[in-house]
Amino acid sequence: MTSRLAPPETPGPVPAIVSGTATEPPPGSASGARPEPAGEPRPAPRRDPRPGLSGLGEADLRAWLAGRGAPGYRARQVLHAIWQGLASTAGDLRPLPASLRAALDEAFRIDTLVETEVRVSDGGRTEKALHRLSDGALIESVLMHYPARPGSRERHTVCISSQAGCAVGCPFCATGELGFSRDLETAEILDQVRFAARRLRADGRRLTNVVFMGMGEPLLNLDRVLEAVTALTDPDRFGLGARHITVSTSGVVPGIRRLTALGPQFTLAVSLHAARDPLRDVLVPLNRRWPVAEVVAAARDHARATGRRVSYEYTMISGVNDTDEDARALAELLRGELAHVNLIPMNPVAHTPWTASPLPVIERFAARLRAAGIPVTIRRNRGVEIGAACGQLAAERAGAPPLPVVARRRERIVAASVAALRGERSREPLEAGVGD
Ligand code: SAH
Ligand code: SF4
Repeated sequence: MTSRLAPPETPGPVPAIVSGTATEPPPGSASGARPEPAGEPRPAPRRDPRPGLSGLGEADLRAWLAGRGAPGYRARQVLHAIWQGLASTAGDLRPLPASLRAALDEAFRIDTLVETEVRVSDGGRTEKALHRLSDGALIESVLMHYPARPGSRERHTVCISSQAGCAVGCPFCATGELGFSRDLETAEILDQVRFAARRLRADGRRLTNVVFMGMGEPLLNLDRVLEAVTALTDPDRFGLGARHITVSTSGVVPGIRRLTALGPQFTLAVSLHAARDPLRDVLVPLNRRWPVAEVVAAARDHARATGRRVSYEYTMISGVNDTDEDARALAELLRGELAHVNLIPMNPVAHTPWTASPLPVIERFAARLRAAGIPVTIRRNRGVEIGAACGQLAAERAGAPPLPVVARRRERIVAASVAALRGERSREPLEAGVGD
């Protein structure tokens, strides 16, 4: 049982680095972004129909090579160039012959991230990347560096997106505010990892952990997420241990049950944020479909079947879900489970009426859980000043919605949460996104 909440650093200058070779429309035209202002029409970018090369396994590559009359052993050279060489252009696909490199370039996208802007913060320990995809969709990944400590080696963790936007619509989340745009392809998921690994390699470092905690609900794009995890854990591709991968879900019960049937693939994290249905209905609207008891039952079965502890994420929102009563309800819900709770002070998000719980309140909440025998960690927010909570950069890029829309959204959220705090369960749908 540890508690660590390092004080946030004084925000320093935020250098922006742009990489990529895009000549396509700029990020403002992204799908998931709000409409362009009148008078600035821009053609909608077309999605590149070529599959992403990193999404292919050895068998797929062998089949493609066979179709071209090329020898099958080239498949392993391609995999090596993609996963050890971290190729982003056809030129990087050595030692393949030039003709084959050109053919691969014609048939596949060597890198599905068309353009990336990086912002560094926390004294260099957090690197937030905003990636533009071929159809203009914007997604985010965050690379976090953790120094070595007594008993633990240095870690480099990348937090990646599984969807552009998200349909779940949690009102404290910047991605939820954007609404859903589309599922990511397997290669688009994997290329975020390859991008982070490439940045680390430039400094002689290696990626140690991957967490699916960026934009989107991974269990609503589960086939592709599973394909991506297979590539990451394949010794002939990225070769990361399954224990170094965490997938976070807002509580898609059929997805959790499907994972349980598959056996341990990675660490499962469940975003709880409230232990009582009326409040969770508001904070995680998916709760109206799969209530909290069903979510925890599925997570319990998963922990028992796989022998792997489930992490519960709990974002602390001042005056909303941080009371003694909430702590009691959470302790009751998780008593006796193979569980660990992470308390995360809410990252400030534009257009919400809420703020993070003060540290003493979080510590009191943690103490109550510990008294009930539940392991707890208090997380510090990373990269608050660069908008590191999921979706914040993309939301910023999408532009501010009109003030009356923001005001209405705030009113709706306040009304819903006030009713929930009285214990009233609303059946009204809470809209995703800042829309009318
Ligand atoms: N959709 C999945 C994974 C992506 S969100 C899920 O919800 O679990 C990853 C984590 O970031 C979730 O636990 C989510 O609740 C949390 N999060 C989102 N917005 C946040 C904010 N403003 N402050 C703190 N945590 C936030
Ligand atoms: Fe989607 Fe997760 Fe954000 Fe909720 S917290 S809106 S599920 S990305």
